[in-house]
Amino acid sequence: MLEMIDPFGRRVTYLRVSVTDRCDFRCVYCMSEDMSFLPKAEVLSLEELDRLCSAFVAKGVRKLRLTGGEPLVRRNIMWLIRRLARHLDSGQLDELTLTTNGSQLARHAGELKDIGVRRLNVSLDTLDADKFAAVTRWGKLEKVLEGLEAAKRAGLEIKINMVAVRDVNEDEIDAMLDWCGGQGFDLTLIETMPLGDIGGDRSTQYLPLSLVRSRLAERWTLTEIDYTTGGPSRYVRVEETGRRLGFITPLSHNFCESCNRVRLTCTGTLYMCLGQDDDADLRTPVRTGDETALSAAIDAAIGRKPKGHDFVIDRRDEAPALMRHMSVTGG
Ligand code: SAM
Repeated sequence: MLEMIDPFGRRVTYLRVSVTDRCDFRCVYCMSEDMSFLPKAEVLSLEELDRLCSAFVAKGVRKLRLTGGEPLVRRNIMWLIRRLARHLDSGQLDELTLTTNGSQLARHAGELKDIGVRRLNVSLDTLDADKFAAVTRWGKLEKVLEGLEAAKRAGLEIKINMVAVRDVNEDEIDAMLDWCGGQGFDLTLIETMPLGDIGGDRSTQYLPLSLVRSRLAERWTLTEIDYTTGGPSRYVRVEETGRRLGFITPLSHNFCESCNRVRLTCTGTLYMCLGQDDDADLRTPVRTGDETALSAAIDAAIGRKPKGHDFVIDRRDEAPALMRHMSVTGG
């Protein structure tokens, strides 16, 4: 069986694919309100995305996550998901999953389950409708809750991703944990990362999760567990609800040593690290249809995967650590 091993001996088995840079929300920590998006000609067709993802699967990727932008706003996205599911049927892929804001989930949940998707990550930062509208700028909480209901009915497992933002939703984390317990959802808390110009100062958004965790531990019994999804989350079990709680702490904890992933943008650029600028162009080889060149380009890129990132949120320097937005690399 083929595999991709990087220079630090880490096996790359996880590909995250941003299928579009467009989104129907404008979350304040993610985008500025007046984002300009990529011209269509630069964006890979669904057929090209299928060929690229399949090349990675042939090289040993076992888990594919579609993200964005918002993956479910890309036209005909269900075609791509259905195509990719053939690798689940063949046993080459263990998991095909999505990260979504949930706004379109009510329409698609049943079909996703039918195709073979088992779990979804749904981003939800607050259960307060006004605050939700303020954080997402354009979103409606009600639609996301409908989407979650539909996903539950369809039998999809749900993990909620909540970005912890100082003074915005820090007083709601406890309530979110409680709600997730009642719904049967796991919860992952994410620290804000300094990605892309959002038209404001990020240091005012940063809330260290070490602080959040010690506050939660005053009310909840949090037991360390070994559970891993191959991702950067560190998990505990919340004894009172029986659900998992994850922490993604890119700034206060270095999660690079076990990194097994690379990220592909919708233009066919491969980022070997979320927090570094080095990239590889895979659009040229995929568009020329030269499979040997594509395979060689992937191998060369994996051979340059860096050891780790170096995010810093610096109060004196308001510039983001990287200029690209999370909607480009997909989070
Ligand atoms: N639209 C989908 C969604 O909302 O989940 C997928 C893309 S979104 C970029 C993926 C995740 O990244 C979301 O959970 C979002 O909250 C998170 N995110 C975006 N910008 C971030 C930042 N600067 N720091 C931390 N998380 C961020």
